Amino acid sequence: MPAELIQVTDHVWLWPSHPDPARVQAAVGIVVGDDSSLLVDAGQSPDLARKIKAAMDAEGLPSPAAIVYTHYHWDHTWGACAWDIPVIAHDLCGQFLAAEAAKPWSHDYLRAEMERDHLLVPSFQARARAIRNFQDFHIVLPEQTFVTTRTLDIGGATVELEHVGGRHSPDSTVVRVPAAGVIFLGDAYYPPPYHLRSPADAPDLDLVASLVSEDYDWYVESHDRPHRRAEVLDLLRAAT
Ligand SMILES: [Zn+2]
Repeated sequence: MPAELIQVTDHVWLWPSHPDPARVQAAVGIVVGDDSSLLVDAGQSPDLARKIKAAMDAEGLPSPAAIVYTHYHWDHTWGACAWDIPVIAHDLCGQFLAAEAAKPWSHDYLRAEMERDHLLVPSFQARARAIRNFQDFHIVLPEQTFVTTRTLDIGGATVELEHVGGRHSPDSTVVRVPAAGVIFLGDAYYPPPYHLRSPADAPDLDLVASLVSEDYDWYVESHDRPHRRAEVLDLLRAAT
C-alpha cells in the first residue's frame, strides 16, 4: 500500500508535499464524490501523477473526473498530461500557461536558462529532476476558466473556487469543500517565487486571516502539512 496518500477528513484525501523542499513537489488534493473525484492540482510531473493514480486505485477511491489548478506554477500543473481529464482554472492561469506552453521545454533548455539566470537554478533543477523525459510531457491548458468564483457539483459534495490573487501568483485560487470543512489554500499566501522575491517579502498573513472561518476546520496548503483552524489562529496570533 503506498504510504503517501492520507485521508484528511470525510470527502478529502491528500498526497502531501515532498518533505525535501529542493524537490519543489506540491501536494495534490483529492475531493471524493459519490462516483468520481476532483483533483486540486495535478502534481509536478507525469511520473508523480501516475504514482498518485495507482495509490488512489489501491485505496478504492473513485477516478478523478477533473482537475482544478490553484495557480499556474509548474509544480502544480506539470503532471496534468498524465491524468488526461479536463482542467478548470482561473482565466489568468490559462493565459500564463499558454505562455509557458510556448517555451521549448527540454533538458537542454533548462540548462541554458539556468546559465542565463542563476536565480532560476533551484526551480529548474527541480524540474530537471522531476521530468525524466520531455517526450512524455506537455503543459495542459484549462478547458474551462472562470473569473471570480465557480461552484462545482461532484456528486455528494460541492466545491467552491474563489480567485484571491496575491503576490505569490496573480491567478491564485482557493478551493473550499464546505461539506468537509476543508479549504485548500494552494500557495496563495506565500511570498513571490524565489527568483522574483526580495528580502522584504513575507507571507501574506492578512490573506490567511481573511480566509479563516468557523465553517472550515482544515487549512490545506501546498507545501506544508494540513493545519487545523486552532493551529492557524495560534500562528496568526504569534505573528502579530
Ligand atoms: Zn506557486
